[in-house]
Amino acid sequence: MARSFVEIIEVSARDGIQNESVILPTEEKLELVGRALDAGLRRMEVTSFVNPKRVPQMADAAEVAAGLPRDRGARFIGLTLNRKGFDRAAEAGLDEANFVVVASDTFNQRNQGVPTADSIAAFAAIRADAPPGIAVGLTIGAAFGCPFEGEVPVARLMQVVEACMEHDPFELALADTIGVATPRDVTERVGAVRAAFPEARLRLHLHNTRNTGIANAWAGIEAGVRSLDASLGGVGGCPFAPRATGNIATEDLVYMLDRSGVDTGVDLDKAIAAAEWLEARLGKTVPGMVMKAGGFPAPRAA
Ligand code: ZN
Repeated sequence: MARSFVEIIEVSARDGIQNESVILPTEEKLELVGRALDAGLRRMEVTSFVNPKRVPQMADAAEVAAGLPRDRGARFIGLTLNRKGFDRAAEAGLDEANFVVVASDTFNQRNQGVPTADSIAAFAAIRADAPPGIAVGLTIGAAFGCPFEGEVPVARLMQVVEACMEHDPFELALADTIGVATPRDVTERVGAVRAAFPEARLRLHLHNTRNTGIANAWAGIEAGVRSLDASLGGVGGCPFAPRATGNIATEDLVYMLDRSGVDTGVDLDKAIAAAEWLEARLGKTVPGMVMKAGGFPAPRAA
């Protein structure tokens, strides 16, 4: 069978470290980006343009953006929750803005201070007059469940998806922000979105809170998704979702895909080395598993 390709979007510099008590200095964030580039990652969410009082880990968003290496063929994404954040991302010269709308009103209110409909309206206004240099994608947060409201019915998710797709994001991501999804949910929800919007470019953002993340990734690929978020070492979490934990680990995903005949362009050993570096910077054990066990077969000693 011909090998297929799945794109991994590295989110450790944004989602990965936004919930950590250790605040990495700007130069270490840029070193993280450099190490991810060395491992072959070519699309990265590098920061979020949010209120620094609420997320102090991201206060240096403009400085991070200014320090990014622009000569290595990578695309850099900034997360934004509102118009102000989007304007800052555009001004910082990022390639893409990832605008977030949360599927449940309560979480949207906690995350970005307004109900879901207001965030969709803000997204519509941005799409109406965004400068041409920045691609505008959209992530639907809590697409599989909400920490405050509980179940998010498929019908509710699809209402939000339909309202957002009217404004033509270049890519649509479904986020399991609190890591409650199972493979069956992924199959069902990705299937519903693909049935309604067969041309949409889809992306999945999965947290491994209940150890279903990597199984969900595979279910997403089988359902037709070709872009997956992951973070080196499996670091991550949302400051506004109680007990949120990390993303699926980049190197664990690379291992699974490599051994399943799916190309990612990422070098497993270099990804493991980058995860180990990040673990040392954070000063605590991170959740990634392949970094502890190593790849297979083991690389031959030189
Ligand atoms: Zn996340």
